[in-house]
Amino acid sequence: MSNGENLPPLRDVINKYGLRAEKSLGQNFLLDLNLTGRIARCAGKLEGETVMEVGPGPGGLTRAILSEGAAKLVAIEKDTRCLELLAEVSADYDNRLTVLNEDALEISEEDLLGEKAHIIANLPYNVATPLLIKWLKKRHLFKSMTLMFQKEVADRIVAAPRTKAYGRLSILSQWLCDTSKQFDISPKAFTPPPKVTSTVIKLVPLEQPRYEAKQEILEKVVAAAFGQRRKMLRASLKPLGGNPEERLEKAGIKPTSRAEELGVEEFCALARAYE
Ligand code: SAM
Repeated sequence: MSNGENLPPLRDVINKYGLRAEKSLGQNFLLDLNLTGRIARCAGKLEGETVMEVGPGPGGLTRAILSEGAAKLVAIEKDTRCLELLAEVSADYDNRLTVLNEDALEISEEDLLGEKAHIIANLPYNVATPLLIKWLKKRHLFKSMTLMFQKEVADRIVAAPRTKAYGRLSILSQWLCDTSKQFDISPKAFTPPPKVTSTVIKLVPLEQPRYEAKQEILEKVVAAAFGQRRKMLRASLKPLGGNPEERLEKAGIKPTSRAEELGVEEFCALARAYE
């Protein structure tokens, strides 16, 4: 059994295939094997597991996931320049890797994976948030998501009430998943270095949402509340129609509160009051 030992160093791969990083594809490559191994291990034991990776690029994180023992890795890569080198990676890891030349925003994960999977990805920053929102909707397909974001987005996912980063992304993510920050990565670790620090986050989908609420209503309430985050809720909820003070009272929330003061549980109570 081969385990990647015949593969050339990542820098040689980049040179051989002329992989000049394309900004439009959010390409910042990680070539440090200690770091890629550390990211892959955030997902927990991978032996026998199915994993999906978005944007394998030159394949550093891909090799780490396979070296950690994933039984099946489905990788989605939009850049055709990477396909040949990824085929070499697959061959050197007993074809446990399948690569699809697709746009990750367009694919239908339920048709690709066959069983519950982990997602592990150094995400292209320009599509990272829409991808997370898409996966939260399909969370029953995933055991865990270990994802690298720019730090500012990662901070929003794990933010607590009464902080500047707290908002729609915090509430949706924390309502549906256990979320935890894993570690920061300096721009210097990437080729080429991005302008900002990156952060690895782990999300583990819950069997059931943390509190009862209809997602569509919760999203509307949260969007209205944070749409005017400095206003009191009795004013910011007006666009939803009805009498906001009555709904807030029904949910046991002071009408003079502001969006960032409510926890996820209170937002769910408010969503129920709007049913
Ligand atoms: N995983 C590699 C690493 O850690 O070195 C590359 C990460 S780089 C930040 C993002 C990767 O996502 C690039 O390889 C890029 O071509 C790919 N990509 C960008 N947009 C994509 C999309 N919509 N669907 C699939 N892959 C995409």
